[in-house]
Amino acid sequence: MQKIYSQPIEVFNFLNHEFKKGHGENRKVISPYNNATIGTFNDSTASDVDEAATQASLAQKAWGLTPIKERSKVMFEFRNILTRDLDSISEVIAMESGKTVPEAKAGLLKGIEVLEYAISIQNLDLGGKMEVSKGVFCEYRREALGVVANITPFNFPAMVPMWTIPICLVLGNAYIWKPSEKTPLTSNLIAKALKEAGLPKGLFQVVQGGTEAVNAIIDHPLVSAIGFVGSTKVAKIIYERASLKQKRVLALGGAKNHIILLPDANLDLSGVGISDSFTGCAGQRCMAASVLLAVGDVDKHIEKIVERAKSMRLGVDMGAIITHDQKEFLNKAIERAKINGAKILLDGRNPETVSEFKNGNWLGPTILDNVTKTDEAACDELFGPVISIIRCKNIQEALQIENANPYGNACSVFTSSGALSEYVAQNAKAGMIGINVGVPVPREPFSFGGINASKFGHGDITGVHSLNFWTNIKKITTKWEKQNDQTWMS
Ligand code: NAD
Repeated sequence: MQKIYSQPIEVFNFLNHEFKKGHGENRKVISPYNNATIGTFNDSTASDVDEAATQASLAQKAWGLTPIKERSKVMFEFRNILTRDLDSISEVIAMESGKTVPEAKAGLLKGIEVLEYAISIQNLDLGGKMEVSKGVFCEYRREALGVVANITPFNFPAMVPMWTIPICLVLGNAYIWKPSEKTPLTSNLIAKALKEAGLPKGLFQVVQGGTEAVNAIIDHPLVSAIGFVGSTKVAKIIYERASLKQKRVLALGGAKNHIILLPDANLDLSGVGISDSFTGCAGQRCMAASVLLAVGDVDKHIEKIVERAKSMRLGVDMGAIITHDQKEFLNKAIERAKINGAKILLDGRNPETVSEFKNGNWLGPTILDNVTKTDEAACDELFGPVISIIRCKNIQEALQIENANPYGNACSVFTSSGALSEYVAQNAKAGMIGINVGVPVPREPFSFGGINASKFGHGDITGVHSLNFWTNIKKITTKWEKQNDQTWMS
């Protein structure tokens, strides 16, 4: 059973290896499981951010000159500590985000996988040098950017920050993290683990808070690059503000992910894959399927999806919705879809849950059939365990609907045909494609990232395609002697 703190714990900023209160407004952290107050913290002001950036910049000077093999050693230790504390950290992640403990653990393990990739960078990315003309050498080296900052959402309190923490630090940067104000508890555990791992002070700074702290981070002259993960509305704000300040910025936004279900799909694979995609993390993940493009007669597949979704026990197999207001929003969106003509195959409103958590924000899996392609449930990111089925005549119609949506995180197809899966892989407008996989999150070293309204900026946030974002490439051209056989270069 999920553990919930009975006494709120105090959450802090982490500056120069010290846990300190911010100087802004005091806020409460509420558990989605029972709406109890589980934590309190103070927002950070611009002066708190200035302290974080100034200390980080000082610390980074030596860290950037430390050989990558030594920087990586700290990450080995960080990995050991996170693995040792996997259970206790996962409990806190679950308590503050509403996830189940196994989901929280899976998120942290994915974060540890990124950490393992970061450790391997020392052996993978060696730079390069060649003689380009007689006696003339060109070389490239990676250099750290300096101080980088990351602003993260509520739905993965450890995994999303862990996409960037190890990579940025191994590459020689100092790191400022602004966690979601809804889920700040985990940040203090990660800070504690990095301190224990032996990371020199100042290189990892945590500032709690909301918009004021974010604006102060973006505007701070010592912060060179901004990573952001959250909703599209805020991603655009961050991208525009940081660009106006001539900052390097990568802002990952929201999603409306489609699954194309073809009649030849394997019944078991699609039943489990599609159901788990929209119910996992109670639908609160940017890779959740939220539209099912049902091509032709796939009723027996849909029956399997309904059957599995129906078996989910709230508070055990499926977690809670982040806030009471978001749960109310989802309830109303389901009602609006019904008024607009959708047939409710499975209604998750007013569900049963374990008695300990009866005061929590619960919504069971909800399946809406015959949704029209212009309906709110077909177009907007609802961010809950709700899937909208749109009936399609053929694969072309399904792809037209997928292509017309403004987002571009993920699109999956369930089929037994290699040719049709390749057709979808080529024609879907999404950064990540799944073939018989409902949540096509690339594993390291493959990078994570969408396109269109799901990502503003260039490159990806993790994996091999993140390296150029988190570093500068310095090019060095060298000549030591005059050569006899001169070319245009010499
Ligand atoms: P959010 O956009 O509300 O908040 C994200 C972060 O931005 C938080 O740290 C918050 O404090 C800050 N913020 C909020 N409003 C701000 C403003 N006006 N100015 C500056 N900063 C502001 O997102 P959320 O509700 O925490 O997370 C859910 C969203 O994140 C969903 O849309 C989901 O799809 C998206 N998400 C995307 C990815 C991805 O990889 N593309 C991953 C996880 C979540």
